[in-house]
Amino acid sequence: MRILVVGGAGYVGSTSVETFVDAGHDVTVYDDLSTGHAAAVVRPARLVRGSIEDRQKLQQLLRSERIDAVLHCAAKSLVGESLADPGLYYRSNVAGGVSLLEAMRGAGVNRMVYSSTAAVYGEPRRVPIAEADRTEPINPYGATKLAFEGAMRWFAASHEFRAISLRYFNVAGATERNGEDHDPETHLIPQVLRVATGEATHVQIFGQGYPTPDGTCIRDFIHVRDLGTAHLLALEATAEGDSSLEVYNLGSAAGFSVREVVEAARKVTGRGIAARVVKRRMGDPPVLVASSRRARRELGWQPEHSKLEQMLADAWAWRLTHPAGYSRQPRTDGLTLDRGSSEPRGERPASRSASASA
Ligand code: UDP
Repeated sequence: MRILVVGGAGYVGSTSVETFVDAGHDVTVYDDLSTGHAAAVVRPARLVRGSIEDRQKLQQLLRSERIDAVLHCAAKSLVGESLADPGLYYRSNVAGGVSLLEAMRGAGVNRMVYSSTAAVYGEPRRVPIAEADRTEPINPYGATKLAFEGAMRWFAASHEFRAISLRYFNVAGATERNGEDHDPETHLIPQVLRVATGEATHVQIFGQGYPTPDGTCIRDFIHVRDLGTAHLLALEATAEGDSSLEVYNLGSAAGFSVREVVEAARKVTGRGIAARVVKRRMGDPPVLVASSRRARRELGWQPEHSKLEQMLADAWAWRLTHPAGYSRQPRTDGLTLDRGSSEPRGERPASRSASASA
């Protein structure tokens, strides 16, 4: 398959690129590098820098690379930020996504897999959550992801378009090459590991008194490697069938509380990790746990790495081998990148088309 990964320099996208490349697929990454890292794009995948809102550039690229299917994981994805700046979320996640859909339509590409989120459900009435359960997001992040699902659904109704939306929950772990390096970092596991390395004095537990056994929020963590496999299975599933949008939850069906994550990290790292309870964070549902029965049954997906200890161990190993994240990270070909540089020095020439130069 010739796959375009939009947002392929980010944490989820770059690890999926590894899965696709290892499976022998031809991969092009399109990313604006606003939060992603050029060094995260493994060879022989090609990196093209551009905005998701640049429909013309996208359309030209889809054509010149003769793309068969698109994995779309370019999105703003922080709940807190979305509450502070909903406009940014509607612009990137909805308007940007529609620009990609129109570019695909213009280029005659009609297969898409979308990185969606459990945040579309809001505060679930029951757990584990099934795909048909009510979607009532409680923050702009979830609302914009759901709005884009709506756009895909209407594209499938009005045009020839086969799409799969994967709603997943908390992604964790790392591969040998790629891991989590956000700036600012807000996610629980990286924050906990920052305390283990001594970069922070303590982790903040955002609220207690939630209706859960230990009073802290419960989340369903999935290994980023298992996500890569799911993305590949979903891309393959869009090869044939009726025009449609199918929705699948991806999760490990086991939730862990914030306190359990901290405790497990103490064991895995062998380091003391101080934790302090602070006030609740706005927009946090108490429990998010997915039923991924449908994905297992219909896509044949089987999470293999999503034990909490393994996710923590892999994230910890990546942190120890990449103490400065991606900054000054050598690429496999020996080139070096500085954080903030827009392109790797010596990036191989954009031989395929003018638009393939970033
Ligand atoms: N959390 C926390 N302290 C942190 C970061 C997160 O207590 O420093 C909690 C957060 O309130 C939520 C859970 O950990 O209940 C997962 O949050 P995260 O930001 O990692 O992912 P989200 O569920 O928002 O996608």
